[in-house]
Amino acid sequence: MMNIVVVGGGHAAAQLSASLAEHALPAKVTLVTEEAHLPYHRPPLSKAYLKDAEPAAAWLRSADFYAGAGAQWRLSSRVVRIVRDERRIELAGAESLPYDRLVLATGARARSLPGLQEGLGNVHTLRNLDDAARLRHRLSAAESVLVIGGGFIGLEIAATAAQLGKRVVVLEAAARLLSRSASPEVSDYLLASHRAAGVDIRLNTAIEAFDVQGGQLVAVRTAQGAVPADLVVVGIGAVPNDELARQAGLLCDNGIVVDAHMATSDPAILAIGDCTAFPFAPLGRRIRLESVQNANDQARCAALALAGTAEAYSALPWFWSEQGALRIQIAGVPEAHHERIVRGDPGQGRFSVLHFRDDTLSCVESVNVPADHMAARKLIAEACRVPRDKAVDASIPLKSLA
Ligand SMILES: Cc1cc2nc3c(=O)[nH]c(=O)nc-3n(C[C@H](O)[C@H](O)[C@H](O)COP(=O)(O)OP(=O)(O)OC[C@H]3O[C@@H](n4cnc5c(N)ncnc54)[C@H](O)[C@@H]3O)c2cc1C
Repeated sequence: MMNIVVVGGGHAAAQLSASLAEHALPAKVTLVTEEAHLPYHRPPLSKAYLKDAEPAAAWLRSADFYAGAGAQWRLSSRVVRIVRDERRIELAGAESLPYDRLVLATGARARSLPGLQEGLGNVHTLRNLDDAARLRHRLSAAESVLVIGGGFIGLEIAATAAQLGKRVVVLEAAARLLSRSASPEVSDYLLASHRAAGVDIRLNTAIEAFDVQGGQLVAVRTAQGAVPADLVVVGIGAVPNDELARQAGLLCDNGIVVDAHMATSDPAILAIGDCTAFPFAPLGRRIRLESVQNANDQARCAALALAGTAEAYSALPWFWSEQGALRIQIAGVPEAHHERIVRGDPGQGRFSVLHFRDDTLSCVESVNVPADHMAARKLIAEACRVPRDKAVDASIPLKSLA
């Protein structure tokens, strides 16, 4: 019986356990996570969890499910080393677990703000349930919230805090919101919407210094002046948890490098989810994604590989974000040099930005138009030729162009 050990307790690990059970692989599966909880839905942590009257973790699967699947969890257990030549991992506390195949599903962690000391009482990042519980507790007492970073998580928290009646300031160093992950059209729309909801967004605002007193960050200084801080959330992106892989000598490059079957540079070790840098054929290069879809689909791909029926990973990337009343959905990966057209009317709060590579769609960003998103997933995945004159006409359903 194959001995499979999985490091990580997030979306990817949970899906891998489920997919291995579907394949009825004769294997012993042990999942090791540093978190004290079974895997839960991470997306609500920046949304509903912060504002619901009675917040609860939304478990991905029940304890009974894993038991039925024959998967064993080791909670509150941090893996500190991979000993490749002996095919075993070491846990903090010196215990060691042998493996035949190892799967790294270690995810990513919040990037810390350069120059800011650790451990300040009013400074938060948000990655896991414990972070969310702490933030929620502090949020209830705070009058104002300073969000550093205008990316997805920063904007989601800003929108949630504004809904809770807090005064919210967002500082963004770049000239637009979401500059790395959305088109200028979507950035501009979000800027106007968040400002209309009362969020004070300041672009082109780099932080020059921090004023710390009594273990609290009381203000940040920018070229435009000091911004007082009551509760501070740092949302400046995430970094892959690839240290275990690096220390073990596996190839890493902004994530653990895997091939199309999720194998690392050591064939006995696979990696899945936010921690991987994987080959993305449409762009002809490796990318790293942070999305539930990618974590789940890579887990399915790895399960196939472990079951001996490997299929190359070719899932279409898609993503969603909820920011107050806005639902942003992205299918495909935006590329700055692809041609863009806007379908629908941003003034009505419902539109999509279509990205074209020649006559096919490469990416569609939809704001409050779920039907466009669902159609776009099919059109992009099937590389349909899409006539621009019809696609731009919002009275013609996008799905009719398949
Ligand atoms: C607040 C928030 C909101 C989000 N919203 C959305 C959204 O709206 N839509 C969307 O598509 N995506 C969203 N995401 C991203 C999504 O949650 C991630 O892409 C997804 O969780 C990736 O799954 P994963 O299993 O690869 O990594 P993770 O879910 O991060 O899981 C990694 C796990 O590995 C554990 N681990 C790491 N190192 C070790 C070690 N050495 N030993 C033991 N355990 C270890 C970690 O503690 C963690 O439990 C959001 C993320 C956050 C944080």
